[in-house]
Amino acid sequence: MSAFLAAWSDVVAGGAALVDAALDVDPVGGSSVAWDEACTTLGVARVPQAARQPACHSRQQTRGVPLEEANQALDAFVATRRAALLSTLTPAQRVVAEAGLGTLLEHAKAQFAMRATEPVTRGLFKHAKAAASKHQYGTSSRPEAYVLACPSCGGPRQTEALTCVFCGGDL
Ligand SMILES: [Zn+2]
Repeated sequence: MSAFLAAWSDVVAGGAALVDAALDVDPVGGSSVAWDEACTTLGVARVPQAARQPACHSRQQTRGVPLEEANQALDAFVATRRAALLSTLTPAQRVVAEAGLGTLLEHAKAQFAMRATEPVTRGLFKHAKAAASKHQYGTSSRPEAYVLACPSCGGPRQTEALTCVFCGGDL
């Protein structure tokens, strides 16, 4: 696996882990050891204690850290990895990788926003949630579209491209 592809899968996995950590706090608006560490590492300006629950309630969040804190952490996470990720690429690859990063960030934020406002009673609203999630992402009906990857090498891809810019394989 090339250095780029190792770094790319690291960003995909790290973004998903960050969304999970942002959701996995109790109670809503709270924090966790994992989240505190992530925020310290990423230099996130925390929402003050007294403002956390009101911030979550104003957005109908049923779980997770305040939305602005999660978004800030995701922005910082991608920013810290962008330079290293793009450094080894050709200009053509860089264009695809930049677009892939933007899409990944957008969908990680959308994932958090969707899951943070889901009803906490699991199961009952499954059908309604499945129907709602189909319309969550504008033109895309697939929440997992941000991991849209080359089947040969796993690199990010452009939907219009016929050939993978990272491995030359057919898409
Ligand atoms: Zn490829």
